[in-house]
Amino acid sequence: MFTITKAKPERGIWSSDQPSLPAPGRGMVMVDVIAAGICGTDYHIYTWDAWSAGRIPTPMTIGHEFVGRISAIGEDVTGFEIGERVSAECHIACGKCALCRTGNAHICEKTEIIGVDRPGAFAEQVEIPATNLWKVPDAIPNKHAAVFDPVGNAMHMVSTAKVTARDVLIVGGGPIGLFAAAIAKAHGARTVVLQEPNQARGAIAHSLELDLVVNPRDENCRSDILDITEGRGPDVVLEVSGNGAALNAALDIAAPGAIVALLGIPGGPVELDLGGKVVMKGISLIGITGRRMFETWFQVEAFMLKNPDLIEKVVTHVLPAKDFEYGFKLMDDGACGKVVLDFQTSQLKEAV
Ligand code: NAD
Ligand code: ZN
Repeated sequence: MFTITKAKPERGIWSSDQPSLPAPGRGMVMVDVIAAGICGTDYHIYTWDAWSAGRIPTPMTIGHEFVGRISAIGEDVTGFEIGERVSAECHIACGKCALCRTGNAHICEKTEIIGVDRPGAFAEQVEIPATNLWKVPDAIPNKHAAVFDPVGNAMHMVSTAKVTARDVLIVGGGPIGLFAAAIAKAHGARTVVLQEPNQARGAIAHSLELDLVVNPRDENCRSDILDITEGRGPDVVLEVSGNGAALNAALDIAAPGAIVALLGIPGGPVELDLGGKVVMKGISLIGITGRRMFETWFQVEAFMLKNPDLIEKVVTHVLPAKDFEYGFKLMDDGACGKVVLDFQTSQLKEAV
C-alpha cells in the first residue's frame, strides 16, 4: 500500500510502498483511509525539529487526523460494522491508570499516538482500537470529517478557557487558531481578536468575520488590541503559535486575572518573566493537549453539523495523497489553511 513515511532522521518526508497490514488483532479495527489532514505536528516531523528528533522513531508512517471506512474487524469488537464511516481519537490511552479512570485520558502518561509512536493514517490502511473510533454522521462530508482531531484541539482549548462574554486574543492563525476563532465566536465571546503574521492566513481569519485581525509585525498591533478591549487587554489568551516571543507579548498585554491557554508546541524551551507577567498579574496558565475523551468529540460533531460553512473556510486544499510534497510546501509557505490529503481519489471526487 501507498504510505507517507518519515524514512530517515533528517528534514523531509517520503512516499513508500509497504505491504498491506495483517488482519486486525483483538479489540482492533482496520480502517481504509479516505482522507487525512496534515497537522502542524506532521509539519514539525517533516522539518525534524528538536521535539520530533527526540520523539519519533524512524521509519514511521505519519498522519493522525483522518476519516475512513471500516474494512475488517478484530475479535471481541462489538457495535461496529464493515463499511461504516469513522474518524478516530489518535491518542491511544492505557484505559487503566488513575487519569484514564477519572475522565483525564487525554493526559494518560502511557498514551501512544498514531503517526508518532505507531504507524499512522497517511496510508491506505490504518489499524485502530475500536474504543478510539468515532462514527461520522452522513451529513458531515469527508473533507470535514478528516479534521475532527484539530477542530477537537481547538474545541478543547476554547471550552477550557471559558470564553463566553470575555475578550479573547488568539495568538496564531494556523488551522487550529482559525478553528478556535470560529468556535470562540460561536461560544459567545465578547470580542475575538486573531493575531497572525502570515497574510494568506490573515485573509482566512478575515473571512470568519472576527472583531479584529492583527499582524504582530504591524506597529499598531498592541494599541489596536488595547483599543478593542477598552484598554484592559484580553481576559482570555489562546496561544496556538508555539512562538515564545509571541507568548511573552501576549502575557504582557493580557488583563490581570487572565486565563492563558497554551496549545502551541514551541520548538524548544521558552524564557518567561514569571514574576512580573504571571505571578503578580494573577494569570492562570493552562496547558492543553489532545481532546477530552469523548466529551470534545460530541462538541465537535455538533459544531460541524451546525457550522459547515466555517469548517469549509478553514479547509483550503484537498490534494491527491500522491501530491503530499506540495501539501508540505504549502505549509512551508503558510499559503494555506488546513490541507487535506485524498487517499481514494476517485471516491473523493464524488464524496468530498
Ligand atoms: P501552525 O503551526 O502552522 O500554526 C501556527 C501559526 O502561528 C502560523 O500560522 C504562524 O504564522 C503563526 N505565528 C508565528 N509567529 C506568530 C506570532 N508572533 N504571532 C501570531 N502568530 C504567529 O499550525 P496548527 O496546526 O494550527 O498548529 C498550531 C500549534 O499547535 C503548533 O505548534 C502545533 O505543533 C501545535 N499542536 C498542539 C497540539 C496539542 O495537543 N497541544 C495538537 C496539534 C498541534
Ligand atoms: Zn492511562
